[in-house]
Amino acid sequence: MPITDIPEPPTFASVEDERRHRKERMAATFRLFSKMGFDEGIAGHVTARDPERTDHFWVNPFGMHFGQIRVSDLILCNHQGEVVQGDQAVNRAAFAIHSQVHAARPDVVAAAHTHSVHGRAFSTLGRLLDPLTQDACAFYGDHGLFDDYTGVVLDVDEGKRIAHALGGHKAVILRNHGLLTVGHSVDEAAWWFVNLERSCQAQLLAMAAGTPIPIEDEMARTTQTQVGHPRAGWFNFQPLYQRIVNEQPDLLQ
Ligand SMILES: [Zn+2]
Repeated sequence: MPITDIPEPPTFASVEDERRHRKERMAATFRLFSKMGFDEGIAGHVTARDPERTDHFWVNPFGMHFGQIRVSDLILCNHQGEVVQGDQAVNRAAFAIHSQVHAARPDVVAAAHTHSVHGRAFSTLGRLLDPLTQDACAFYGDHGLFDDYTGVVLDVDEGKRIAHALGGHKAVILRNHGLLTVGHSVDEAAWWFVNLERSCQAQLLAMAAGTPIPIEDEMARTTQTQVGHPRAGWFNFQPLYQRIVNEQPDLLQ
């Protein structure tokens, strides 16, 4: 589908409306990620930059299950890692990674990271994803590899190194750890995460079954501009959002 056939993401008359929208999309993302099995104990975080205080971000409370998060549970964290709205704690790893990603990428509104199984398994190979399928082409020439593992990320210097490995891309594979994606909207970051996790799964399956044939370079580049466009990422999330809000309307509370 040409990008021109895809609707534009919404715009907002006030920061209050935009903030509410971002938080609704975040709560929906957690519910979807839980439904898809991306949760793993206390691991994983999705953040969205506040539209007004742009060095602050909204994040899930530390230790709350993805499957129970509502809009009103989200907490606001400042650039020093202090919770300035909400009465629950922030995960130190969430602050260490996401504060540096948001600082390094002013174009990015949201970032998503979990320990989803296929992303985690693929990350142990210490390599980039191949353009094996149309969907995987979204990441062709547009993801990085953090080719290091230094324990649980608790300080911002590690977050800086991860942000450096991400560069200007939409995703980074964290070796022996998992996946991280970003987007110009929560919707987009969430979709890239779903897409990357499943592309890792598809490549692992294909490699286990035989010798996969990659899409050739020029065609992979062309496909990247189609399926990997920010608006395509945003649009792919819309049916997922509608489904989860219909199923679990309490997430909007
Ligand atoms: Zn992690």
